Amino acid sequence: MTVLRKNLIDGEWLGDAGSRNINPSNTNDIVGEYASAGPQEARQAIAAAKAAFPAWSRSGPLVRHAVLKKTSDEIMARKDEIGRSLAREEGKTLAEGVGETIRAAQIFDFFAGETLRLSGELVPSVRPGVGVEMTREGVGVVGIITPWNFPIAIPAWKIAPALAYGNTIVFKPAELVPESAWTIVDILHRAGLPKGVLNLVMGKGSVVGQAMLDSPDVNAISFTGSVGTGKRVAAASVEHMRKFQLEMGGKNPLVVLDDADLAVAVDCAINGAYFSTGQRCTASSRLIVAEGIHDRFVDAVKERLEKLVIGDALDARTQIGPVVDQTQLKQDEDYIAIGGREGAELAFGGDRLERETPGFYLRPALFIGATNAMRISREEIFGPVANVIRVKDYDEALSVANDTPFGLTSGICTTSLKHATHFKRNSEAGMVMVNLPTAGVDFHVPFGGRKGSSYGPREQGRYAMEFYTTVKTAYTFAG
Ligand code: ADP
Repeated sequence: MTVLRKNLIDGEWLGDAGSRNINPSNTNDIVGEYASAGPQEARQAIAAAKAAFPAWSRSGPLVRHAVLKKTSDEIMARKDEIGRSLAREEGKTLAEGVGETIRAAQIFDFFAGETLRLSGELVPSVRPGVGVEMTREGVGVVGIITPWNFPIAIPAWKIAPALAYGNTIVFKPAELVPESAWTIVDILHRAGLPKGVLNLVMGKGSVVGQAMLDSPDVNAISFTGSVGTGKRVAAASVEHMRKFQLEMGGKNPLVVLDDADLAVAVDCAINGAYFSTGQRCTASSRLIVAEGIHDRFVDAVKERLEKLVIGDALDARTQIGPVVDQTQLKQDEDYIAIGGREGAELAFGGDRLERETPGFYLRPALFIGATNAMRISREEIFGPVANVIRVKDYDEALSVANDTPFGLTSGICTTSLKHATHFKRNSEAGMVMVNLPTAGVDFHVPFGGRKGSSYGPREQGRYAMEFYTTVKTAYTFAG
């Protein structure tokens, strides 16, 4: 029997079965059934969050600390079960699912601590006898709209700071991964959040998400997803003069110089381009390789690709799980065909794989002979597909790396301090990695990009405060 998960609106679990959640490793396996909110429920959730804001914003650090710490502890205690469920609904491997769950626990723990560290400033005014205080307050009702590729970590890194700084929430997760979203909300709810502080509205983006964008009572929206939807969030938010924060795509370069340690470079490429089935906005989709190491690098990457185990996400031996669904699989295959038509050479993979159960299995694809002008080098594919672009030297590598509409992460593999330092200073990306994969950032430091990748203040770490608070400057004349 499949379970029915309901929406949480004003402290009540509500709704009838509306959508089914399918395991991408085995499409015969139904993970569960989920309520699907309509615009009316979205408006109820927004009204509940609005009503809950005054009390929650004044609740004080101890109450918020207790809820966030309890949530962290429960997620950590259940990491294997939640990680498995995440892998089952999203298709990333068990190790990746458990790792992401641990990260969510760490995020809640970090922001539990932050509730006790909120501070302001007190300075003398230029007018004698007058004092000026600068304090931070919650923004109000925050709309949180998340994608399917990190079903628990992304909701955690938005919900935890929103609550820590005294905001109330309407949370709309991606349709493909409602189980992880429901689990995190259930844990927070039982941890003692007052009614209305956190509302869950599962459902369609065009319905529930749009109702959030259209509401004058949503004071801020934090969004992670596609560029197209990000632009809609931006336009609607400007209309309502609300705060917004966008994390969108990437077309992240990994530069490999002639003096790189080949083993390190290959590790970075395999991890960065293909782990999590390449479904990360931080994935290394452009491998920009200097000509002196090019052939050795390509041979070594192909050798590693041959050995990768692609299969059921829940099988402990699997290193690369399936693509998340049929639509994404089609997008990956369409781009692989486009790459061929554009004149890149498919040096490995790109074909569908049969496994014991019906699922969306794709062999990781490696293009060589790609140019930076090709669509496969300019548009985000969001699958296990990477292109090798051959360059002459460091200068050309840097210029190709920066020649992109995106700017989320970048990486360089080199043993030259001079080139590593120059790259860190001149790469037009929000996050730069030296001898490390472009994906994989810590939970306590800022995450975000430039150009078409991101808009607004950074997420995570103490920098999250910029988005989830607003500054108040208050004057007192004490005589
Ligand atoms: P992806 O292609 O990765 O699914 P989307 O941008 O379509 O990216 O989805 C990211 C999130 O945005 C999902 O939760 C989705 O439901 C939501 N979304 C989609 N369309 C809209 C919309 N018109 N308004 C608000 N949210 C939306």
